[in-house]
Order: sequence, then C-alpha cells, then structure tokens
Amino acid sequence: MANSLPDLEISPVRKDCRPLKTRLNFTLDKAATGSKARAATFQTLHGEVKTPIFMPVATQGTVKGQTVDSLRMTGTRVLLVNTYHLLLRPGPQVFKKFGGIHRFMNWTGPVLSDSGGFQIFSLPHSREMNEEGAHFQSYVDGKSYLLSPESSIEMQKAIGSDIMMVLDQCIDSTAPYPLAQAAMDLTHRWAERSLRARGESLQALFGIVQGAGHRNLRKNSAMILSELPFDGLAIGGLAVGETHHERYDLTELVTEHLPKNLPRYLMGVGTPIDMLEGVHRGIDMFDCIIPSQLAQRGVAFTSQGKLQLRRSVYKLRETPVDAQCDCQTCQQYSRAYIHHLIKSDEFLGWHLLGIHNMAFYHRLMREMRDTILRDDFLSYFEKKRRDLVRTDEENPARLPKKVKTAQPARLGDYEIHNSPQGFSSIRQISSGEVMHSVNAPNDEANRLYIEQSCLASRLLKRDTTVDELVIWDVGLGAAFNVMAAIHCFERCYGEKEESALRPLRLVSFECDLDPLILAATHPACFPHLRHGAPRKLLENGKWQHDSSLLLWELLKGDFRDYIESATIPDLIFYDPFSSKTDSALWTGEIFTRILERSLPKSAELYTYSASTAVRVAFLTAGFFVAEGVGSGPKSDTTIAFARARGAGDHPLSPRLLGQEWLTRWRRSDAKFPAGLSNDEKRRFEKLIESHPQFFSDS
Ligand SMILES: [Zn+2]
Repeated sequence: MANSLPDLEISPVRKDCRPLKTRLNFTLDKAATGSKARAATFQTLHGEVKTPIFMPVATQGTVKGQTVDSLRMTGTRVLLVNTYHLLLRPGPQVFKKFGGIHRFMNWTGPVLSDSGGFQIFSLPHSREMNEEGAHFQSYVDGKSYLLSPESSIEMQKAIGSDIMMVLDQCIDSTAPYPLAQAAMDLTHRWAERSLRARGESLQALFGIVQGAGHRNLRKNSAMILSELPFDGLAIGGLAVGETHHERYDLTELVTEHLPKNLPRYLMGVGTPIDMLEGVHRGIDMFDCIIPSQLAQRGVAFTSQGKLQLRRSVYKLRETPVDAQCDCQTCQQYSRAYIHHLIKSDEFLGWHLLGIHNMAFYHRLMREMRDTILRDDFLSYFEKKRRDLVRTDEENPARLPKKVKTAQPARLGDYEIHNSPQGFSSIRQISSGEVMHSVNAPNDEANRLYIEQSCLASRLLKRDTTVDELVIWDVGLGAAFNVMAAIHCFERCYGEKEESALRPLRLVSFECDLDPLILAATHPACFPHLRHGAPRKLLENGKWQHDSSLLLWELLKGDFRDYIESATIPDLIFYDPFSSKTDSALWTGEIFTRILERSLPKSAELYTYSASTAVRVAFLTAGFFVAEGVGSGPKSDTTIAFARARGAGDHPLSPRLLGQEWLTRWRRSDAKFPAGLSNDEKRRFEKLIESHPQFFSDS
C-alpha cells in the first residue's frame, strides 16, 4: 500500500489559520511542561498585561473599600467594571463627558468591561428576553431599558474599556440540554451582532463560550466562537451551581478547543484554589469579588491558609496577618488591631484586609507566571494545591458535635457520596474520585454497557451459537455494571424459554472489595444490590443463578495478572478508576495484552472515557476505535473493537473515528503520552497515521 495519506478534510474550525496579530498583539511567552498552564503578554490601549492575571472587580467604578493608589500598591494591573450598573448610574452621558472611565475614576491602567448579561440574567422577575435583547426596568429610577448586543457595545464604547465583552445569555450550569442549547445558539447569534457593532473601534472584544454543564455544547460553542474574529475568548456560566470537579472538567474541555494565540478568561472565578486549577487547565485571566468581599467579613488569605480574624484567639496577637506577606497592612499592623477594627465594624478594617487579600491574589498569579517561565509549574502546582486549601492550623476551631455525626459512612479508603440529584455513589477518599460521578450510576451502567452492547439480544441463542457469552467486568466497584447485566439476564429469563438463552459468564476483576462491601451494607443507598448475588460473591467468590445459565465469578487482585488466564471475553465492560487515579490500566501496553486475549472471539470493549489519550492508546494497541453513546454531560464515550469488521457488524453501527478525529489529534496538546523521546514520538505517530481504521472507510 502506498504510504501517502488520503486528502485530508481540514476542518474549518481551527485556530491556527487566523491572522496572528490582533488588537491585543498576544504573545505566548511560555507553555508549561506537563500542564496546560501558560504565561503570555498582550498590549491594550492602556498598557501591557502579563498573564496569568487576576482582575479585581470595580462594580460601580470602584473596588469596594479601595482607592486607585491602594490598588496599584497591591499589584493590580487590570480592573473589571460592570456595564449594567454603570449604564443605570451614572449613565453613558457622564462617560461621554469625561471621555471614558479612565479619567472619570482616575485609573490609568487597562479596564475590562462586562456586557451586563450576567447581571440581567440574575434578575429573575424584572426582565423580558427575546431575540432582540433583554428589556428590564432600572432599579435606580424605574425607567425601561433594552440591553441588546448593540446597546451593550455602545455603552462599553462610552465607558472606553480596553476589553469589551459580548452580551451573552447566561444560564444556570445545571440547565437541561434543550434550554442550554437554545441559550448557546442565541449567544452565538449575539456574538456576531456584537462584532458588527464593534466595527472599526480599537477596543478589543471577547466572545463568551456557553453551553451550561453539557460537554458537547461547550465543545461546539468553543469551536464556533474560535472561528469568529474575536481578540480573546471567555468561558461564561461557570461558578453558578456546578461542583468544583465539574467546573474543572468543563474548563479543561473548553480550553482544548480554544485557539492558542488568544487570551482565555474564566469569568467570575474565583477562589485561590480555583485559579490555580484554572491556570493548570490553560486559563489566563480571572475576576472575582472574593478578596474584597471576604475582607469585609474579616477573612484573610494567608500562606497558612484562610483565617477568620473575628475569632477571639486574635485579640492579643501582635504578629501581622501573614508574616510572609510584604503588603502595607502586614508591614504596619497587628492581627490584634485588625481583629479589633473588624469587631467594631470600622471601615478601615475592611480596607486594610482588602489590601492584604488583593496582594495575596496578585502574588499568587505572579508566582504562577514565574514558575511557568522557569518551567517548574507542575511541582509548584502539586505543592500549592495542598497549601491553598489549608485552614487555620495554628489555631484550629473546635468542630461542633453535629459535624461528627454527619460524617459519611466509610470503609477503608472509600466513603458513600450522596449527590444533590439524589443518588448515591462511592468515593475514593485518597484520590477524591467518585465512581460514576455525574450520572445516576444505574442509568450509566444500563446506557453505556447493557443497552449499548445490545446484551439482551446477545443472550438469545441463535442457530449456530450455543457457546457461553463471556463478559469481563473490569473494575467491579460497587457492582453497578455487573448487577445491571444480571438484571438484564433475569428479564430475558422471565420472558423467554430457558432453552432459548445462551449461558452467560460474568467475570469481575477487582483488587479492593471495600467499595462493594460498603455499598452492600447500605442497601438503602444502593437499591441495585438488594439481591442475593453480591453477598454470595463476597462469601464464596462466585454466584450461580438457579437455572445454572448464569455464573458470576470474582478474580480478586490486579487485573493485569489475569489478562492471559481469564476466560476469553466476548464483551469487556472497562470501568476502572480514571487514568488520573489509575494510569497503569490505560496504557497502550495493557490494551495490547487485552487485544491479544480478545482476538479469538473478536471482543468488543466498552468504556466511559472519551479522552484523546485513551483513544490513542487503543489505536496504538491495534484496536479499532468508535464513538460510543453519550451519557449525562458526556457527549460521547468509547467502543474499541478487536477486529476491523466489529463496528460494521454491530447492531447500532457505531461510527469509527475518522479523518476529522485524526486532524484534531494532530493538533492536540495531548498528542503523545508524557515522557516519550523524539524517536519514540516518531514511532508512535507512525502507528497512528498508518492505522488501517483511517484508510478503510470512505
Ligand atoms: Zn499582607
């Protein structure tokens, strides 16, 4: 076969073909190794900005409790102002009179203005929304206003900000799919209108990625907006209802699909730990009211963690808020004095703690930038992520008793995790990873493994097949997948003649039975285990159905020790902990051994992961890799076929990854596993580029 690749369909969605110079003249100074963190520099109409950067929020044209001098002293470089509030008061005529906000508030540095969208959508009753924009009544004087993409840009032009934001429809991150999609589509139409309204103005304009908590919407939104001539892109609609891990995952997904040569701004985030995690995932810019808001409540961010200076333990302390801080407050005042000011509700307490918190935030960003430039970010990240969540360890607060009784049930390294949606899962305490973290576990087990593998129809005997059907259940966990298979078998058994069914063997691999034991002792949380099978399996290592047609056996220990000796599988449910927690089970080497064992029966492997790294590992092992169904917020999952014809023979005809995926892979940050030499990279690249899967389909 000739070595040339077929003509590639270059997807129009990418990044690298845009003009390199924008209004901001963005330069990527350094990208970290082993992280998506990056340091960059860009130019605004009011000077240079170095990232990562934190932007204090000057809602009404002032950061609460601070002067522009005190802000400058803390290291503040860019301020964020709220268009919605400034539109209502003082109003555009004031900004026109002063020639913009810089002169009005005596701030000479860069300013970013938001569009007003976020504030409008936080008003539940007093607005009306349509294609044109949002109609609302002023809280200042009761007048009616229309905030449209055009009027928002007009106001931001009057403000004279260096960076303007498009009007977007901000929606709760837990919004259902159809609502989230409609809001996203509207946001895209408004994005184009905003660009037209910006016209030839020299002010930069950022687009905003929406899509709530839905991964494929977020991905589409990022790709569509990357095509428009924005000067930067923001991620909106996060930090409004989702968990930290969901936020981190969505951030990572979106930055994967954003251009490398534009700044990326995560709106409304956040806490120090959120910013650290955001930078690690490729974010450059943040804003949040937290440093001044918590200062008002007496909270200080310090190198020792977060302190509440209202506590009476500080009444007599002569030490500064943070001995390692060089801010003016720490140089000049004691904890005792700040404690006294806060207790007396004196404005100065808020001002002084605000200075300290702001200095802490800017120092954190500078440290991140320095370690990126030194290419030492990853080790800094690992250390800092522990430091930033510490609480007042020198003066621990006594826990109220009820906290103790509310502790979740635990066994070994596992605890029961109750989701806000009302289902229970198991969390590994050491890694923090929740099994089936985003969906009701039974739903995910049925959708990804039982329905997608068409298990019910495979259990029916056909003329020529009488041999047993063998399923490998890799990562037994709390037995969600295997119990879903048992329930599927029992439904078939109830509906069909015994003689019409194939025998079924379920082989579960697990090194640690604590999750199953923990779940089985809390049947109220785990109704799928209200069955005789799990108890028998735990007692005897196996369980047999009364009909003898179904055998469930447990191979306890490391899955890798059993690959060559376990009964050859027809189907593999591959559900171990993620590659972050258990990387050894996601390598090309393991998949090669699985493939060799699977070939005699042309097995199919189903897994929840859709990550590029995992798919690449399957491909290099020689699997044929297809897109599996989505589940909850996951837009897709993965099916790996041992043989080329597998996908074609499959009743649901899943789509093999094609040229489009290959093109994306070539441009991916995660193109190679970590630590490959250049020779290994070339070999690896050849394995993927020459994989028959990319030549077979037209
Ligand atoms: Zn300080």
